[in-house]
Amino acid sequence: MDVHEAQELHVVFFPFMGQGHMIPTLDIARLFSVHDNVKATIITTPLNKATFTKANEESEKIGDPVIKIEVFKFPTKEVGLPDGYESPDLSLGVGMIQKFFKGTEMLSEQLEEYLEKVRPNCLVADMFFPWATDSAAKFNIPRLVFHRISYFSLCAQEIIRVHEPYKNVSSDDEPFILPSLPHKVQMRRLHISEDFWKSEGSEFKRRMARIKESEVRSYGVIVNSFYELEPDYADYFRKELGRRAWSIGPVSMSNRRAEVKAQRGKQASIDEHECMKWLSSKKPDSVIYLCFGSTSVFIAPQLQEIAMALEASGKNFIWVVRDGGDGKNEKWLPEGFEQRMEGKGLIIRGWAPQVLILEHEAIGAFVTHCGWNSILEGVAAGVPMVTWPVFAEQFYNELLVTQILKTGVSVGVKKWDRKPSLENIIKQEVIETALREIMEGNKSEERRIKTKKLKEMARQAVEEGGSSYSDIHALLAELRGYQLRQQN
Ligand code: UDP
Repeated sequence: MDVHEAQELHVVFFPFMGQGHMIPTLDIARLFSVHDNVKATIITTPLNKATFTKANEESEKIGDPVIKIEVFKFPTKEVGLPDGYESPDLSLGVGMIQKFFKGTEMLSEQLEEYLEKVRPNCLVADMFFPWATDSAAKFNIPRLVFHRISYFSLCAQEIIRVHEPYKNVSSDDEPFILPSLPHKVQMRRLHISEDFWKSEGSEFKRRMARIKESEVRSYGVIVNSFYELEPDYADYFRKELGRRAWSIGPVSMSNRRAEVKAQRGKQASIDEHECMKWLSSKKPDSVIYLCFGSTSVFIAPQLQEIAMALEASGKNFIWVVRDGGDGKNEKWLPEGFEQRMEGKGLIIRGWAPQVLILEHEAIGAFVTHCGWNSILEGVAAGVPMVTWPVFAEQFYNELLVTQILKTGVSVGVKKWDRKPSLENIIKQEVIETALREIMEGNKSEERRIKTKKLKEMARQAVEEGGSSYSDIHALLAELRGYQLRQQN
């Protein structure tokens, strides 16, 4: 241990209250806390605490350091949200989401009281908390931003925000080039949020500008990615956009044991042993895994098209459907589907132990909504993907996978839409074609070889001496240096 490492470092993490933010934050906190003399705390709200405690208990059992959980009261009533509302549930509509953001801003007071009392050495706060840079600055604490997205998305979003290339086209479907990026990347207005390009001075645009401004003034950015996956964009982000950044992923690989992996996020809706047993009865690369993340919701007619495509493809599958479709008791499975699929397909209603499933050798393809955590988990498991973006930055991730990494096939979603409507549903034939293409198309072998290579690169990145491993070390050394300078 060098002399610096003898000095205790306390890093506090403050994730946004969505599963896609909290899950990787817990992974990162674990990655930090396994280092000598590094203590990690995660701040959350009462109803979100469970996301951390269960996995924490499992970590403790296998001897990993325990991460402290600090609970802040969420001002649900004060901002006019219904009781029990402490996460950005899309089903409640845009108005409620605005109120939710207002509630998160009100957390700054509790954060400042906490920082003043505890005086941690670093605050890693979510991108959605731009005000945290100023809160940390009051106590001379370096604030790092965690965006939870890829370098590619970070770069593409910034280029679109600054250069507004969407203004140079006359229809929403006309492609435009993202200027100055390392690859010739084309987007369409249809693939970005209307809030972003349609209305000047919208609440969304103001929020994005604030996020970027606070990012520039922060100590730097930590990115859940690894250098070898998107080197051009890691370099571009640092050199052309001038950000200080550390690549520390894939952070899901910090879950070393099956018991811990099975506890990521919510309580799984299936016994993980049963699920693994089922997968083990299948041949390698023979099962398609379909999951659309923690927030996307499909209407019943879309689910029916997926079911028919799966049946027609004749492939084995595990299909995760949240809340039985859109939460209403609509009929979303064709008559007799489950009986006919007995032994061939498994439907998980609710929450799946995703990382465990993806890592099983029977999984041959992943149909994904392109949330960045899911993409990176698929990369780390060496699985080719069918890309089915829905909203947020998912269309950028699709571009990365299909056009730059070339490890996926697009299902061809036409429009960014939080809840895809009837006119935008993807039909059975189109889905079936994509499933066949990924599993047995003439490029499928080539794709499989590429994905296995990326898996190996991911493994090397997080191992001692690898790029992500070294970046965490470099960051911890910097933070210790910062602390020493403050003391002298
Ligand atoms: N996830 C899971 N089981 C599920 C659905 C999602 O474990 O049934 C996890 C998934 O492994 C990932 C996270 O939830 O870590 C979802 O994050 P992502 O960025 O992929 O999408 P989001 O939910 O934020 O849209």
